[in-house]
Amino acid sequence: MIIKYHVALDWNDSQIEKMNEFGVYPVKGYTAVQIDEETYLKVKDYIYEWTGSGGIRYPEFSKAEQKESPLSLKSGGHEHGYPMPDMDFGYKQLTYDLSDYCPNCGVGLKQKDAFRVKSVPPEGKKQIFSLGWIYDELFVERKIYNEVFEPLGINCREVLKYKKENPFEETVQLVLEQTQEKLNLVDYPTETCHVCGKTKYQPMPQGFYPLYKNIIAPIFKSCDYFGSGASATNKIFITKELREKLIELKIEKSAWYIPTKALDETTNLKSLVTGDKKTENK
Ligand SMILES: [Zn+2]
Repeated sequence: MIIKYHVALDWNDSQIEKMNEFGVYPVKGYTAVQIDEETYLKVKDYIYEWTGSGGIRYPEFSKAEQKESPLSLKSGGHEHGYPMPDMDFGYKQLTYDLSDYCPNCGVGLKQKDAFRVKSVPPEGKKQIFSLGWIYDELFVERKIYNEVFEPLGINCREVLKYKKENPFEETVQLVLEQTQEKLNLVDYPTETCHVCGKTKYQPMPQGFYPLYKNIIAPIFKSCDYFGSGASATNKIFITKELREKLIELKIEKSAWYIPTKALDETTNLKSLVTGDKKTENK
């Protein structure tokens, strides 16, 4: 794993010239460059001066690290449509039990009813997808559900056609179990809500995610919340076996997964955050 920084800026000639001295080659105009950590630490004072903030720090994993990971966090994929009714987020009342929900930070939604959507993707396209605004639920073509998920004991539920209220025959929602195990995310910046007092983590990965001690299902949700402002979601984790199957079937891409590591192998996280190269993993 290496740490990189994403820097977006409206670059002018003198800024480009300065960056070139360090082997960084931005394109003139509003563009972004990806800078490795060693170089970033040398140029960061300029970046702060020009952007007013720093670059966005992110980990980049090797193919081997992605392939070998026993459990991965799903961080990308297809999206299709929005939950309905979308007016004033009316789907929240209809689909969720809001008794533990805090509108200020977004924590505490519990699904109580089916999602309503206007349409589902045509057969063979976006066989697994999420909805706009809903990042912790997955919808699957029924054929894929029967072939891949059902044999693993994963349950599904209906998705309803908006206004007609009858189910889509070709698409189901996966019922994702939620673990009670909290991750040790000590290096993640947090936000604590001034209304409900609950804490959530910044969603940007800081390196490998810690590996759960107890993997409760081939695919499951975290109990920890991630997000900022009024948005809060759980993260979805998938085992190596299921991930490989989905990639082999060309339903998912390996780039959509962030690897995890047992905590004793990630004890260097803190030094990674401060940029101490000597103790970096791999
Ligand atoms: Zn809150």
